[in-house]
Amino acid sequence: MREIDLHIHTTGSDGTCPPREAVKLARDRGLKAMAVTDHDTVIGYPEAAAAGEELGIEVVPGIEISTKYGVAVHILGYYLEDLVPLLKGVVNDRDIRNAKMAALMAADGLPVSYAKMKERFGAVIGRPHFGELLVEFGLARDVSDAFARFVGRGQKYYVPRTTIDIDTSVEAVVASGGVPVLAHPFQYKKNDAELRELIERCMDHGLRGIECRYSGYSPEQSAYLERMAEEYGLLKTGGSDYHGSHKPHIALGSGIGGNLEVPYEWLERLKAAAGQ
Ligand code: AMP
Ligand code: FE
Ligand code: FE
Ligand code: ZN
Repeated sequence: MREIDLHIHTTGSDGTCPPREAVKLARDRGLKAMAVTDHDTVIGYPEAAAAGEELGIEVVPGIEISTKYGVAVHILGYYLEDLVPLLKGVVNDRDIRNAKMAALMAADGLPVSYAKMKERFGAVIGRPHFGELLVEFGLARDVSDAFARFVGRGQKYYVPRTTIDIDTSVEAVVASGGVPVLAHPFQYKKNDAELRELIERCMDHGLRGIECRYSGYSPEQSAYLERMAEEYGLLKTGGSDYHGSHKPHIALGSGIGGNLEVPYEWLERLKAAAGQ
């Protein structure tokens, strides 16, 4: 049953839909609940929660943290009470990286000012925002094209940012009072043994769940992840990773081509684990 979406980005980070609009969209799609999981911040939650009260949709506070584990691995955190200083530091590192990217573009003669970007896009800016500007300048067809030619790893305006390691990220979510979940496990291109190693390592630091259903994952892929979650006694979660027009192929609640269906029962278990 298509009842919830536990992975949504808003204008709090690099989504294009303001929190309130995301909640409206969730209501229009007939969902019972949704989580706001912006990158490195929970800034969008209060607005979403207020809209949820008004529109009769349950809104779950969440976050998505980028970590380093050879490849970039993302950790979702749900029901965080407050961000520990460590996570606040992550936003600061992002800010320093962004200022460098803006300076590179300005040095090329593009009308980019990081101060203006902050006014326009808010506190947590990501590479998709730089992509959006490149589209506006007529230098890229769309945000994906901007990643391929300008802001993706190794491209002209790419500047890496420091990320915290995976153990620390999982622990930071726990320390913030939240439930840590491994996001989109197939993104890391790991075989069964490697994925198990990753999961077991995260469990040593407090991991509680796996994102088993995700935009574009086949029923077979989801079933594999669900079996793995059950085997390890972990919670199952699922969500679209909706980013609005920054990732126009992904629909809130229903994923890619309607592949996504996440039952409310999974949220009930998550809430119980969070003591909610
Ligand atoms: P950042 O966190 O600023 O380094 O930017 C990374 C974010 O860019 C990811 O979390 C994705 O949301 C987004 N992203 C990565 N690749 C693409 C792409 N090809 N098209 C659009 N967005 C992307
Ligand atoms: Fe993103
Ligand atoms: Fe992610
Ligand atoms: Zn995401």
